[in-house]
Amino acid sequence: MQKQADIPGFTAITPTAPISADRHGYRAKCLQRLIRLDMTVPRTVALDFTTVRAIAAGQMPDLAALLAGFGTAPLVSVRPSSHDPDWGGPGAFLNIGMNDARRATLAVEIGDDASHEIYARFIRAFAIEIARLDPEPFEGSTDLGAGSIAEMLAAYEAETEVAFPQDPVEQLELVLTSMARAWDGTTARILRQAKGAPPDAGLGLVVQAMAHGVGRGECGEGVIQFVSSDTGMADTLGRFLPQCFDRSALTAARGFGATMSGLSAQATETLTKAASLIRQRLCEEMMIEFTVENGKVAILDAVRVARRPRAALRIAVSLARDGVITQNDALLRVEPGALTELMHRQIDPDGARDVAIRGIAASPGAATGRIVFTSNAASASAARGEACVMIRRETSTEDVRGMHSAAAVVTERGGITSHAAVIARGIGVPCVVGASSMTIDRREGTVTADDGRVFRAGDVLTVDGSSGEVLAGEATLLEPSLDDAFTDFMTWSDAARDIGVRVNADTGAEALMAVKFGAEGIGLCRTEHMFVEADRLTLMREMIFADTPEDRRAALDRLLPMQRADFTRLFNIMQGRPVCIRLFDPPLHEFLPTGQEDVRELAGALGLPASEVTRRAQEMSEYNPMLGMRGVRLGITVPEIYDMQAQAIFEATLDASAHGDPVVPEIMIPLVSAKREVELVKARVDAVAAAVRTERNQDFDYLLGVMVETPRAALRAGDIATHSAFMSFGTNDLTQMTYGLSRDDAGRFMGAYVSQGVYPEDPFHVLDTEGVGELLTIGAERGRARKPDLILSICGEHGGDIDSIAFCRAAGFDYVSCSPFRVPVAKLAAAQLAIRAGIGSR
Ligand code: PEP
Ligand code: MG
Repeated sequence: MQKQADIPGFTAITPTAPISADRHGYRAKCLQRLIRLDMTVPRTVALDFTTVRAIAAGQMPDLAALLAGFGTAPLVSVRPSSHDPDWGGPGAFLNIGMNDARRATLAVEIGDDASHEIYARFIRAFAIEIARLDPEPFEGSTDLGAGSIAEMLAAYEAETEVAFPQDPVEQLELVLTSMARAWDGTTARILRQAKGAPPDAGLGLVVQAMAHGVGRGECGEGVIQFVSSDTGMADTLGRFLPQCFDRSALTAARGFGATMSGLSAQATETLTKAASLIRQRLCEEMMIEFTVENGKVAILDAVRVARRPRAALRIAVSLARDGVITQNDALLRVEPGALTELMHRQIDPDGARDVAIRGIAASPGAATGRIVFTSNAASASAARGEACVMIRRETSTEDVRGMHSAAAVVTERGGITSHAAVIARGIGVPCVVGASSMTIDRREGTVTADDGRVFRAGDVLTVDGSSGEVLAGEATLLEPSLDDAFTDFMTWSDAARDIGVRVNADTGAEALMAVKFGAEGIGLCRTEHMFVEADRLTLMREMIFADTPEDRRAALDRLLPMQRADFTRLFNIMQGRPVCIRLFDPPLHEFLPTGQEDVRELAGALGLPASEVTRRAQEMSEYNPMLGMRGVRLGITVPEIYDMQAQAIFEATLDASAHGDPVVPEIMIPLVSAKREVELVKARVDAVAAAVRTERNQDFDYLLGVMVETPRAALRAGDIATHSAFMSFGTNDLTQMTYGLSRDDAGRFMGAYVSQGVYPEDPFHVLDTEGVGELLTIGAERGRARKPDLILSICGEHGGDIDSIAFCRAAGFDYVSCSPFRVPVAKLAAAQLAIRAGIGSR
């Protein structure tokens, strides 16, 4: 007789059998490892991908020979074994081999009732899942005795016009064919490809002897794991069902808890030892599926413990701490994006979700609060200690204070780099933007949701900035977890990566947060965000409305000490780490009053009639301010602003260096497009530096560089590099200008564009490596050709995006800079890139 292991396409799993995950799938390989560890695993045979493909095409291997290995009256299960467990596969099928005769012999071993139930369940599953019959005649029977079985067999025959197959070989043939074809179904294909499976991913199958948890002694089946899927902390969890034979312990949705009641101490000890050995040797926390038959434990399967991101990190760290895996392996086991969940509150995924409004996920995390419609109402709410959700059409500079006070922000307009999105990410407030299907009625104080529900000021909403959804009412939230495991994990990331990670931070609070997350420095300080406090805003407006350079200088003189204090605080917090300060960038009109009340207030402060303030504000309006007088254009036409900022930076440099590490500030000029712009600004900044050196009689160093935000700056990077120590690519504006796409209005049609494949992704979110990326490459090459030690970086929102980091690393950039909460994500992504590159080069 042919030996089992020699049959083509079938391999009995033994310690030495040639089983590989690439040909037989993860489950077959895992079972072999368990067998190698001397675990009691029921006899198992693996079918490789090629065989399963042949089965789907109707070519059946010698199943009689296969089943012969399971004895004269085989009872087997079949389970899927794809290359990656996440790719899914058809459900397991149990008790193949059950027939009239087998039921009778089983009755002697486990009793009449249990044998009837097993047979009835088998017929039902076979009829519905394999023969694809209408479930009705096979469902609902509570009496599973012989009569019921006869009825089911008759129903099967009536429906199919053939008798229920009694031959185990025929049963197995039909089950294998059904499972092999299910794998080829369109839906299954789409689902697994969405999880990263290649189009030609194969399916393996494992045929295993049934081990029933039924009998006269201690019998049952269960699942057990020794860590929590939520936290990753050590815990014994699972479910044990005494006298059970249908894998309900695995599939039951409820009852997976901290008790394994019914399981004897001896069986628990056997499983604990097995789990510890499996963890050590399979280098993973596994959930074990087992049966107990008259006190004897058999292990049917072991699968990776399902885990939330925080558990994934804790499990990886404890495996590395215990020396089971290396620190680099641990780093590769956590998705960088999943770290976001650890840093913010999240909506409990097991809780109810009453989604009322949908928009773009702009700043991760979740928060609950009462609706407010104005910045003042948000501040008042915060003063009362009441969490609020600020809903606005869009936000501007005037709303920043309100945003700081709000628990979450929702805007009708805007995209991923709009004002609300950028500010919210910076300060870690959950935010949804571009929720264009909601309707705000400010006068009525209502917002009408996508489904027509009307919410009023004071009503409670929960904003999920990670999914872009806004839920009605209060949802259960999970707290962030920045614990010892997180700290270790970040330290290991730092050791592994080879590209710098800085932070975009404008305020002391953000800088403190950035230090906590381990940023190496500040890559972008947007100084305009320092002018939003009420007293400064008024001074700023006075400066803007000044008639003469002297008046302007007077207003700036009052802003100077404030700016100096801002910079000193930043330098002190960053303790010698580099700080890159961008000179004033936005169009001035952003600081002008908008509402009547605001106009009257400013008129009072300036001693002008309100009509004059309105007229002057209108005079300053531009058709397209984002392409108008902003950035370096403002610096050249109203140079006193940059003079004041440079003076504040240099004086703060000396102040901070006096009692701390020496500070070498980096001054960055925004929106450059020509070499001459840099020359003009540089001449003035150098002059201010000289004046401060003379005045203070102290020396200091500084670097002057540019932001590359216009296509021309990238193309002329060679020229521009002449006067620049560094170039930082501002990919928000660069994307906007390369596409000719307003970053504040793109939200309106971005969904349609992405869903119809015009853009593969929102280019404000994921760097367009083909177009914008080419400008980055050109800029980097031309800049470095002129100045080999030119420091290159990216500071647009893409700085925290994983694919964009890969692009910048490959292009030889020195660092990426991103919002504080993305720093850990960027660090892990960078570490993984370096580790994978190292593995690849070996
Ligand atoms: C940019 O344009 O990429 C940038 C960082 O500047 P901002 O977002 O402030 O325009
Ligand atoms: Mg910009």
